[in-house]
Amino acid sequence: MQIPMVDLQIQYQQLKGEIDQAIAGVLDTSYYILGPHGQAFEAEVAAYLGVKHAVGVSSGTDALHLALRAAGLGPGDEVITSPFTFIATAEAIAYVGATPVFVDIDPQTFNLDPELVRKAITPKTRAILPVHLFGQPADLAPLKQMCDEHDLLLIEDCAQSFGATYAGKQTGSWGALGCFSFFPSKNLGCYGDGGMVVTSDDRLAEQVRMLRNHGSKVRYHHDIIGYNSRLDELQAAILRVKLRHIDRFNLQRRVNAHYYSGRLAEVGVMPPFEDGKGMHVYHQYTVLTDRREALQTALTQAECASAIYYPIPLHRQNVFARVCAEVSLPVSEQVAARVLSLPIYPELSETQMNRVITAMGKA
Ligand SMILES: *Cc1c(COP(=O)(O)O)cnc(C)c1O
Repeated sequence: MQIPMVDLQIQYQQLKGEIDQAIAGVLDTSYYILGPHGQAFEAEVAAYLGVKHAVGVSSGTDALHLALRAAGLGPGDEVITSPFTFIATAEAIAYVGATPVFVDIDPQTFNLDPELVRKAITPKTRAILPVHLFGQPADLAPLKQMCDEHDLLLIEDCAQSFGATYAGKQTGSWGALGCFSFFPSKNLGCYGDGGMVVTSDDRLAEQVRMLRNHGSKVRYHHDIIGYNSRLDELQAAILRVKLRHIDRFNLQRRVNAHYYSGRLAEVGVMPPFEDGKGMHVYHQYTVLTDRREALQTALTQAECASAIYYPIPLHRQNVFARVCAEVSLPVSEQVAARVLSLPIYPELSETQMNRVITAMGKA
């Protein structure tokens, strides 16, 4: 593909001086696990997001898993979440033995519909787990209010939303726990796997710190069953460099998204909807169309990538199909049948976007 969904090479070439130096610095000290870069990165992210604690872990999936364990969720507990997300959101709920309760989404933002969430609360509900899908914050104010009223935990899946804000406050800082992924293609991505749990609760932070390192606070003293789930020093050093540029990267994603949106009327597809409640950071640029197959064929012919995030909502995945046999979530199903994501990244040029738009015009 001449125009890929994401191009990680351009950004590396741009930051090569800073990144190579950071990597060389780690190799020179040969300190690889739980060292100074990890600590500094945690402090820098906590300050950036406006939270008290940030704990580096080995992936976004682990961030969700450890957050749910730290919160004490387990068998018999229901966690309300979105069916229109990456599988990891619901996998983490299953890892701790809790039950994912899928609730339908808003047809415009693709995020959890707060009114439907309210109706799904039962005496077994312990947490609400919204996903800030494609980089647009979920409608956090009503969700937080419901959590306060019903004594539930708000746990945010921020894997796609690093740097996004809602009512001026960072995603990840609204909930009891916020979970981030640094998978290479995410808005803030490392060069391997990485993740982070953030919280302003001292006890939850301590639990996550123990869980990520074999249940240990003091070396060779183990208080709970934990995991090997640490963010390594090489990744932390790389992420510290990229964190210095994240606002510029997110802004450029928005500039690109708005360029696409200004031109899409020409080709008759529905651009992404910004609800005006926060700042969308466009991890993905996703349109709605009834002509998806024709558009994808035309894009492929013009050597432009496109992708379907996500073709099957989670309640229709084989792994959940049996327990969700009675579940009907029509908006998620209709949206999954009509979404199409176009290439977006900070370094994407207008020339490249024109090529994508022209290709779609030929479908
Ligand atoms: C990427 C992603 C995850 C998982 O992150 P990994 O770092 O790949 O484990 C979880 N939830 C959502 C919504 C994601 O996009």
